[in-house]
Amino acid sequence: MLDELAVDEAVRQCDVVIHLAAAVGVKLIVEQPLYSLTTNIRGAISVLQAAHRYRRKVLVTSTSEIYGKNGAGPLSETADRILGSPAVSRWAYSTSKAVDEILAYAYHRERDLPTIVVRLFNTVGPRQSPAYGMVIPRLVRQALAGEDLTVYGDGSQTRCFCHVSDAVEALIGLLDEPRAEGDVFNVGSSEEISIGELASRIIERTESSSRIVHVPYDVAYESGFEDMARRVPDTTKINQLIGWTPKRNLDDILDDVIAEVRAEQAGDATR
Ligand code: UDP
Repeated sequence: MLDELAVDEAVRQCDVVIHLAAAVGVKLIVEQPLYSLTTNIRGAISVLQAAHRYRRKVLVTSTSEIYGKNGAGPLSETADRILGSPAVSRWAYSTSKAVDEILAYAYHRERDLPTIVVRLFNTVGPRQSPAYGMVIPRLVRQALAGEDLTVYGDGSQTRCFCHVSDAVEALIGLLDEPRAEGDVFNVGSSEEISIGELASRIIERTESSSRIVHVPYDVAYESGFEDMARRVPDTTKINQLIGWTPKRNLDDILDDVIAEVRAEQAGDATR
């Protein structure tokens, strides 16, 4: 993505551009803020410039992190951003993705480029790496390995998890809808669960004998780390435009991830 010649060549050869590449995962953002900012901002500029050069429709994926600490829920696309200091890496990440969005809107307004922005809320599912700290791939692996499940903070923070297959259907549906151009859409599930309950659900569905341990945020991430207490999307806008709503619930997601990790561990055992 930062290789402008490679981006130019790829965009030249395709019909539409779906810009998914980014530095993601709170753990990665906190550990490597400079890399994350450069990747997200320079990468988006490079993709949008190439899309403009070849007049390709481009869908830019953004994030629910945009809303920062706005814990009111459900959050509609026009909800306020409530951020802490830019000295806190998490808010710097939120700002980098806001810059990506602003670039997409500006290319649409000032250069007439067909752009669409999608804010993804906790997209999860098979093949999500545990390497960047995301909760479901981590807790499922811990449960299946018989290790303690690490719940950060008191576990009362809530999230809504959306199956990656549902998210993909949303992106494709928006790309097929000309009225989506120049606009922004939330994509996520409305099934809200606390992380403490999520850990218990994972233990139950894996029939694991693991225990749940609580890890303070400043040990899990860094001192001064701030988490979002709640993050629930309002998806009325995409639903009204293209009729999208998630088809898979949290149990479907957990079953898919558990099956994948079991297969991976069985493969490791026979190797
Ligand atoms: N989390 C946790 N244990 C872990 C990893 C994450 O309790 O091993 C928490 C994290 O603090 C957050 C929630 O799970 O409150 C979702 O984290 P994730 O990184 O998956 O997504 P986020 O919503 O933070 O972008």
